[in-house]
Amino acid sequence: MSEDKDITDFKSEIDRAYQNALHSEKGGDAKWKTFMQSYGAENLSEDETNMLLNSEMKITKGAYPLELRRVYEIIVRKYSAQNNEGLRNSADNFNMDDEIKKYYQRIKPFSGMGDIFSNASITMNKYSEGLQKSKHYTFKCKNCGAPRLEEMQYDNCLFCGSKLFENAN
Ligand SMILES: [Zn+2]
Repeated sequence: MSEDKDITDFKSEIDRAYQNALHSEKGGDAKWKTFMQSYGAENLSEDETNMLLNSEMKITKGAYPLELRRVYEIIVRKYSAQNNEGLRNSADNFNMDDEIKKYYQRIKPFSGMGDIFSNASITMNKYSEGLQKSKHYTFKCKNCGAPRLEEMQYDNCLFCGSKLFENAN
């Protein structure tokens, strides 16, 4: 069996992408963009990046989850097309939304107080849910909770790339 020094298994290739995204500067730095390009993955535009930086979906470091997803998708496609059944299975069993959410947990602001605030705000949200529903109609991403920005037209979450927007049906 020929030993390729390059990465040839699914898990380590995914992990390398994850580490690169994680160690990028907030919102993606030049090194990350080069890495994305090496996969032929499309960067978020400057407008999209600025919009995300100003949105309520705060991050402390790292590339945006959507960009990591774009690289993941290319890796998954690559391995799904392999003849090797093991490689194909690991790619096909990859849970994209879960993995992106896991990554998001690592880059979002971390503090003990934050948890208290977010619990409080969940209570508040439930309390005022009826009120909000009547005056305001917002879609939220089922995967990461990002609100769908009303000023833009898009189907997939701009933050994490999931297509599961929750509607109030
Ligand atoms: Zn999302």
